[in-house]
Amino acid sequence: FYKDHPRYSKLLVVAAVSGGSLLAYSSSNSSHHVTGDSESKKKRIVVLGTGWGATSYLKNLDLASYDVQVVAPRNYFAFTPLLPSVTCGTVEARSIVEPIRNIIKRRGASATFWEAECFKIDAKNKKVHCRPVQKSESKDKEEIIMDYDYLIVAVGARVNTFNTPGVEENCHFLKEVEDAQRIRRSVIDCFEKASLPNISEEEKKKHLHFVVVGGGPTGVEFAAELHDFVKENLSKLYPKVKDFVKITLLEAGDHILTMFDKRITAFAEEKFKRDVIDLKTGSMVVEVTNNAIRTKERSSGEVSSVPYGMAVWSTGIGTRPLISEFMQQIGQTTRRVLATDEWLRVQGSDCIYALGDCASINQRRIMEDIAVIFSKADKDNSGKLTVKQFQDVITDICERYPQVKLYLKNKKLKGVSDLLKDSEGKDNSTELDIEKFKSALSQVDSEMKMLPATGQVAAQEGVYLANCFNQMAEREKNPVGPPRIRGEGRHRFHPFRYKHLGQFAPLGGEQTAAQLPGDWVSIGHSSQWLWYSVYASKQVSWRTRTMVVSDWMRRFIFGRDSSRI
Ligand code: FAD
Repeated sequence: FYKDHPRYSKLLVVAAVSGGSLLAYSSSNSSHHVTGDSESKKKRIVVLGTGWGATSYLKNLDLASYDVQVVAPRNYFAFTPLLPSVTCGTVEARSIVEPIRNIIKRRGASATFWEAECFKIDAKNKKVHCRPVQKSESKDKEEIIMDYDYLIVAVGARVNTFNTPGVEENCHFLKEVEDAQRIRRSVIDCFEKASLPNISEEEKKKHLHFVVVGGGPTGVEFAAELHDFVKENLSKLYPKVKDFVKITLLEAGDHILTMFDKRITAFAEEKFKRDVIDLKTGSMVVEVTNNAIRTKERSSGEVSSVPYGMAVWSTGIGTRPLISEFMQQIGQTTRRVLATDEWLRVQGSDCIYALGDCASINQRRIMEDIAVIFSKADKDNSGKLTVKQFQDVITDICERYPQVKLYLKNKKLKGVSDLLKDSEGKDNSTELDIEKFKSALSQVDSEMKMLPATGQVAAQEGVYLANCFNQMAEREKNPVGPPRIRGEGRHRFHPFRYKHLGQFAPLGGEQTAAQLPGDWVSIGHSSQWLWYSVYASKQVSWRTRTMVVSDWMRRFIFGRDSSRI
């Protein structure tokens, strides 16, 4: 029942029935050790996170088959695509969150949640070290150490400031629900400050200058939301200062929404011009002070400074300290996110899986695998394969690596596609120089993009991983995956395959751009209705679905609420 630990000076064993699962705790002066239940045959899974990846994993895992422990500093799932709507009160914060305990309870099985932050993964001893979020007066509650058989790392990412001076101190981020709530209050603050008596015109302009840094989907959507909020609600409530309002969007690249089709980018840029949102492309922020933003023009190198009332920083994501530290431990020092294989196992660690924004499938390894496949086919090491052997190798590679297949299908790897075409129509026994193919395939490494850091990817990875765990026992006996490249036999499971279902870019004024599979693009009011239906249907529970839809209706009827609470 209790696993001894040399650090313990005092032992306290508490048996607790937590949602049906029996746990053992022991405590020293400064830590609690949550060991597995040796009576139970169930393997312990520790899940880090309650975001897109972890929640989708938990919603699909057969919880009854494992002893599941969930650790995260926030006890709820947040529907991030609606965060920009929360910044302006289009949707209320509580409408887009669902307590993780509700999600677990609805599954009708047991799993334990701990509101704590993991600060260290000890892969060697299969333990995670966590710190409770709520500060306790008692010193002995400072650390929780938890054993695991399997660890699922889904801790997401943090905001990337590129170490730009003053950003942390002076800018808002838009990553968490609290960020959105702070922005909402801050917008109203700026209007109230500008409306006070004895405020000069210069000061009014400063207070009502809203700057958004980053022209990705989040920055663009926030700028559009804010524009609508000002136009539809605030300009009526603050008529005396409405003419001083200015929204600026700063983007270091040449265009906004570069991950979307060019038609969407062009439409968005045109719409922002019509809406008088000041779009400054090629403009890099070099410093943010408490009342001005310094920018540098990429083309001319000219540096200028603009006063602002509120700034929102949205320039992409960076690595969480927990992940950086863990990557050091397992020798993945040169990477930004954890490298996994196609089965989402962290490379260099047994029994640790990673998904979502904190991880990505390692493409370099894929290239190494492809080289091994070629060498295996080229048994006599002649550097040549017959057309038949070559085509078998390509079929094998495409089956294993859907990304490569997609690239070949879309003729994006021009060199490889040309060579493939050359081989067509040739006699099966004709010999081909595979060195040419190998070097052409190495383009995959540089051209193949990582999966995007989106909720859509994280959620699909969660479903995939849960299904693997649900079939673990069966697949040990009857593997269904491809033959192993290194070693004997087959892999237990098929590799993870991402299915892109499309993406939206809401542009304000009840208009949305939608890019659907097959590069099908739709922009305008009809896509806005598609956006409403997709986001209503994707809600994690009926409770949040009802609340979100009623918030939209409330906004249509009464407008957005501008109270600063
Ligand atoms: P997250 O969802 O970020 O979850 C991370 C979890 O880990 C959280 O519960 C966190 O509390 C927990 N955690 C953090 N540190 C620790 C720790 N040390 N120990 C334990 N737990 C920890 N994606 C889309 O597909 N479509 C969209 O429209 C879209 N819109 C977005 C809009 C905004 C404003 C933002 C910010 C993101 C948007 N995304 C969208 C991206 C999407 O939210 C992320 O890609 C997704 O959240 C990644 O999921 P995840 O599970 O990896 O991480």
